[in-house]
Amino acid sequence: MPQEQSKAEVAYLSIKHAVIEQALTPGTKLPEDVLATHLSVSRTLVREALARLITEGLVESGRKRTATVAQPSRAEAHNVFETRTCLEREVVRLVIARWTPAMGAALEGHVRNEEEAARTQPPAVCARLAGEFHIRLAHLAGNPVIERYVSELVSRCSLILAIYGNTHSSQCGIDEHKALIEAFRRGDAKSALKLMDEHLGSVQQRALMPEKKPVDEDLGSILGRYATGVSSTASTPARRGRKTA
Ligand SMILES: [Zn+2]
Repeated sequence: MPQEQSKAEVAYLSIKHAVIEQALTPGTKLPEDVLATHLSVSRTLVREALARLITEGLVESGRKRTATVAQPSRAEAHNVFETRTCLEREVVRLVIARWTPAMGAALEGHVRNEEEAARTQPPAVCARLAGEFHIRLAHLAGNPVIERYVSELVSRCSLILAIYGNTHSSQCGIDEHKALIEAFRRGDAKSALKLMDEHLGSVQQRALMPEKKPVDEDLGSILGRYATGVSSTASTPARRGRKTA
């Protein structure tokens, strides 16, 4: 049932992107019937999408069965960053060990997209692309388990930013991504590890500021916007794996 699978993917990615880009903020209720109406899919597919997002830590199954966008505590936020740093240090080691020029080209291609987005796209999209750099890097490590967990942790960092940081303030420095690529190219593991430590350290520092932001857009208009965007890129049967963060 490729069409159903595609619809399921659209529903999942629409909600996920809206959460990652902080359009749906932590604590927002996600009623199945409302989501189904706005995303033009069945409640069954909405339930499936929410179940995936719950396992990824982006959504919580609320009381009275209404799911909400997850609200990680400050302690959980620290745990997320600590774990992310551990895993991304391992990613650095693995990528250096299996480095090829094609990997450099792939990462540079992504950085060019980040630069283009910085000129033409809203900060929320730039922040999502910045996170995707780390997921691409994790993919190059060649360990799907690490890739899965890095992807999850990068997504959860968006929630942490929404609660404890200034909105979109902690997107990664594009120059820092470039410096990492150069260290990989030189096979300089020591520098690459240091750069990654500093990079994630600065992201964490900016993400855990005590700032909050107001929400004034309604659920229907947010999801309508995201459903349109995702439909245009997910019309082919999509795998259930993680492609975006
Ligand atoms: Zn980064």
